[in-house]
Amino acid sequence: MEITSFEQFELNRQLLNAVAELGYTVPTPIQQKTIPLSLGNHDVLGIAQTGTGKTAAYLLPILMKVKYAQGKNPRALILAPTRELVMQINQAVSELGKYTDLRHLALYGGLGPKTQIETLRNGVDIIVATPGRFMDLYRSGEIVTKEIRTMVLDEADKMMDMGFMPQIRSILEIIPTKRQNLLFSATFGGRVERLSSEFLEAPIKVEVTPQASTADMVSQVIYEAPNFRTKINMLDYLMRQEDFQRVIIFARTKGTADNIYKFLSRKVIEPEKIRVIHANKGQNTRINAMDAFKEGNIQVLVSTDVAARGIDVAEVSHVINFDLPLIYEDYVHRIGRTGRANRTGEAITFLTKAEEYHVQKIERIIKATIPRQPLPAGVVVAETPFEEEQAMLREIDEQRRKEDPTFLGAFHEKKITNMAPGRERDKAQAKLSGAKKPSPSGPGTRSGSFSRKSGGSVSTKSGGGKRSGSRGGRR
Ligand code: AMP
Repeated sequence: MEITSFEQFELNRQLLNAVAELGYTVPTPIQQKTIPLSLGNHDVLGIAQTGTGKTAAYLLPILMKVKYAQGKNPRALILAPTRELVMQINQAVSELGKYTDLRHLALYGGLGPKTQIETLRNGVDIIVATPGRFMDLYRSGEIVTKEIRTMVLDEADKMMDMGFMPQIRSILEIIPTKRQNLLFSATFGGRVERLSSEFLEAPIKVEVTPQASTADMVSQVIYEAPNFRTKINMLDYLMRQEDFQRVIIFARTKGTADNIYKFLSRKVIEPEKIRVIHANKGQNTRINAMDAFKEGNIQVLVSTDVAARGIDVAEVSHVINFDLPLIYEDYVHRIGRTGRANRTGEAITFLTKAEEYHVQKIERIIKATIPRQPLPAGVVVAETPFEEEQAMLREIDEQRRKEDPTFLGAFHEKKITNMAPGRERDKAQAKLSGAKKPSPSGPGTRSGSFSRKSGGSVSTKSGGGKRSGSRGGRR
């Protein structure tokens, strides 16, 4: 039977009214598939990204079953990797449970537990938590788990990436075995499969938005930029374009995020229109920044991957990957921030030659080749500073070594032959002697694709002096 309305689900009036008030008319595909299964008490393995409506897909049946406030102990537990996501899920519980009297609570670290403990003591029906804080409060005797009948692991792939498996296992040991389990993950692979066999019983797998289809909703493009400075110049250029109204800029590290923020707020964007969030920012700063972005009060949010988990903002006009994420699946999460709810969004990636390796892996995951465009005319291509060039060459050597452990590296090989004898050289030799071939400069060493000239200057394809105008990128 085709499901075209929420009324077709066996949900009570309180929930249907809340859904209608939120403006949901047609259930999304993940909701169409998950809600009946979950209401029927099946374990579900859901492969769905943020933006697909997965939160309501698992929350509505939970709210239906937990129904009304009762006793003191929680009856449903939802685990998520970050406090932002926990807060967002908790908010969804508030909205969907608006016409019920259900008591729910978000538990996460970063804030003192006092208020959380007080609320727990007054009685809660549903807990949304990060695994760490949940276990801490359990250990201190504040949570009684014996009445938990439903458990959800949301963004399970991310939880594994973040090293939460030990905590998740401990939690599984302390909650009743007779329960319903739902596991959601944006990606599916060996790890998620293993977790699901550990955690779920005869699960039914539901899958929506296969990763390849991100390409349908989001137009993706790569600009090759030889170095950090050129990326900054490109950012400068883009942010001056009119349609860049609601932009998230992703950076791999806190330092890069801060630098981007400093540059843009000094020169390009009015300081009150831009914020930066990462793990070093206080909880309140992060919450405020996200709220301001959601409300449309700021134009640009600069974020690291961890800080961005769970950001749910419709109408992001552009996602800019200033660099590629450390965890490849995060590319999918990043670009999923745009192109939501049938809007087309744009995801722009800046790429150095050291990042080529990673983009190939990402393209394999998304099952698509991301088109490349030359830098627009007017973007100044800066010269690569010596240190940065060296770091990139080293990185490329590392990548080649990952693929071929016998590869000793063009960069190290040259460095040793050119270096003055003495301690530095001994140090470098000692480092290399850990490799399989102990004679780095001897015959038989393979050389890599980038070589350093003996005079100390670096040969690159895209280097050159400061120049403006379009560069001969790939078309
Ligand atoms: P999620 O994938 O759970 O993060 O949800 C993404 C966004 O879609 C949230 O802003 C939800 O409020 C919204 N949403 C969820 N279900 C529906 C629906 N059936 N119709 C329209 N919007 C929805």
